[in-house]
Amino acid sequence: MILRPLYCLLFALLPLHSPAQDRPVALRAPIVAPSPDMPALETIAAVRVDRNGDNVPDRKGQRVHIRGIATLPSPLLREDGFQVVIQDATGGIGLYNRSLSLHVKPGDVLDVAGEVGQYKGAVQLRNVEARVTGHAALPAAPAISLEDADGWRYMGRRVSVRGRIDDMALDEYGLLRIHSDGGAKFALFIPAALTPRIDWKQFPQDAEIAATGVLSIHKPSLPYDSGFQLILGNVGDMKVVAPPVARMPHWVWWAVGGSVGLLGLVLLVFHLAQRRQRERDREMKTLSALSNAFATTGLGEAQLARHACGILTAYGVADAAMVQVFDDRGCLQQVAVSTVDPQLSKALEGPDAFRIRGRSSEEQGRQIEERVADKGLSLLAVHPLLTPSGSLGFLVALSPRRRRPTPAQERTLLASVKLLAMALENHRNQERARVENRELQQLVITDELTRLYNRRFLDEYLRVQVPLAVRRGGGLAFLALDIDHFKRINDDHGHHAGDRVLAGLGILLRRETRNCDLAVRLGGEEFLLVIAEDTTDGAVDFAERIRVLVASQPFEAGHEGLNLSVTVSIGVAIFGVHGDCADTLLRAADEAMYASKQAGRNRVTLAAAPVGVTIT
Ligand code: GH3
Ligand code: MG
Ligand code: MG
Repeated sequence: MILRPLYCLLFALLPLHSPAQDRPVALRAPIVAPSPDMPALETIAAVRVDRNGDNVPDRKGQRVHIRGIATLPSPLLREDGFQVVIQDATGGIGLYNRSLSLHVKPGDVLDVAGEVGQYKGAVQLRNVEARVTGHAALPAAPAISLEDADGWRYMGRRVSVRGRIDDMALDEYGLLRIHSDGGAKFALFIPAALTPRIDWKQFPQDAEIAATGVLSIHKPSLPYDSGFQLILGNVGDMKVVAPPVARMPHWVWWAVGGSVGLLGLVLLVFHLAQRRQRERDREMKTLSALSNAFATTGLGEAQLARHACGILTAYGVADAAMVQVFDDRGCLQQVAVSTVDPQLSKALEGPDAFRIRGRSSEEQGRQIEERVADKGLSLLAVHPLLTPSGSLGFLVALSPRRRRPTPAQERTLLASVKLLAMALENHRNQERARVENRELQQLVITDELTRLYNRRFLDEYLRVQVPLAVRRGGGLAFLALDIDHFKRINDDHGHHAGDRVLAGLGILLRRETRNCDLAVRLGGEEFLLVIAEDTTDGAVDFAERIRVLVASQPFEAGHEGLNLSVTVSIGVAIFGVHGDCADTLLRAADEAMYASKQAGRNRVTLAAAPVGVTIT
């Protein structure tokens, strides 16, 4: 029982007593003795090729014979062959061959014959014959820096180096990437047979280590990513000389990075939300400004369009805006334009009108687009001013540079176009209603045949004018006028001819009365003129002038050039002379007119003076 722990201890210590480097590695063939015709021995320095590659052809391919001391415990078993490194006083060289099998210990003296091969990281001798001819002490390792080691001259020699571990890869062999304080980098290559013996935890990242080994391949690329490679032949050659410098834990970096990222994200979201809000505000302000402007009563079409363009550019929805409206001939007329961009304002100067060819709004919009492009301008949007009664025109938004409108811009423009179309449609409806109303009013107060005022309007007129005359103390005269023997015209030429004469007389009376006078058809062929005259002579002269004009001007009464002459009998009554109320004056004028009839027609009679009054 007591022996058991001792056995365990013995077996545990066994690897230290029989180190791996002394064990032979996979011998495939016996050492082949060099042939008798081998040339005389050479130094390693003599067979080297240039370190940069195959550019020393004089030695390449030649067979050489050299002697050197094996610097590694055994052939290095590599995936693609064996490598033995030997060294003489002039340098070191690798024996490298797929089929080469050597069993050597460090310090074995080898006589080697082989062909100078390529420089593939290390100078290689191929087709090697070799034998062990003795044993010698290994030369002491020179203490060199990493920077020194990165040179050709130490190739194959044992060197001591210091450096920090960058990282390590452990598979069938150990590979530590090292860097020195001076910046040199190299790979520490540990043969597969030795890697299980190393406690890798002792060699953490960033630890500074010192190592002694054989300097091998100089290769600035794969598989070591380093300037050169140091093959460690003895585990004890590598030790930590300084622990890793304390580093910030990874989670701190993650936390800081994450927080910064999160903050950035929050700021981005905030910025986007703010921008969205700003765009919404602008949209609301624009639309409310448009609604307010359009609510102003009495604005014309051009004013409405100018408001729309001005607001769209002032609120930054577009750099320039134009409104084009169809005129009566179907031509698009530019009724408003506004821009805040000096470059655009020059291009938009002057009136613009053109005939649109397409029927659909899309076709017309395309034409506008072409027209805008012809002027060298960039279109932001073109929207038809659509109303239930059809398209009134277009709202065109421009920008100095070609760019697509943002969704908010697009929305605002569409809403603005609807508001403007509505305002224009309202305005047109109001205008139409106003005209219709005026026409209706006119119809109510005018006589259809003669276009003179009717009795209804006369009553309204006198209700205002008589009190005015009372206040002014005169200035009003009544002329009752009746066509003489009018019945005969109807009888002789027909009712239509009579109508044409009535209409002709209407034109004459309208032409001869002033703005301050009023011509009324009382009914049938009876008329009344209310004129602004306050003297008897003035009124009688005026009546006389009318009488003469009527008598001297035949009226066109038919299609076949039928012209008919008529005469009129006129009775004159003066405000303040023959009465001072409408009824009295009308009656006085009427009576005077009948007096004219009695006296033989075609004459003017002044009303008789009221009883007790003498007219001078
Ligand atoms: P007097 O010189 O005495 O006034 O003779 P008169 O024929 O003009 O007078 P009277 O009052 O006898 O006839 C008026 C005629 O006017 C009767 C009617 O046929 C005609 N008349 C009235 N209104 C119209 C109308 O609107 N069109 C036409 N064509 N004739 C009308
Ligand atoms: Mg008559
Ligand atoms: Mg009459």
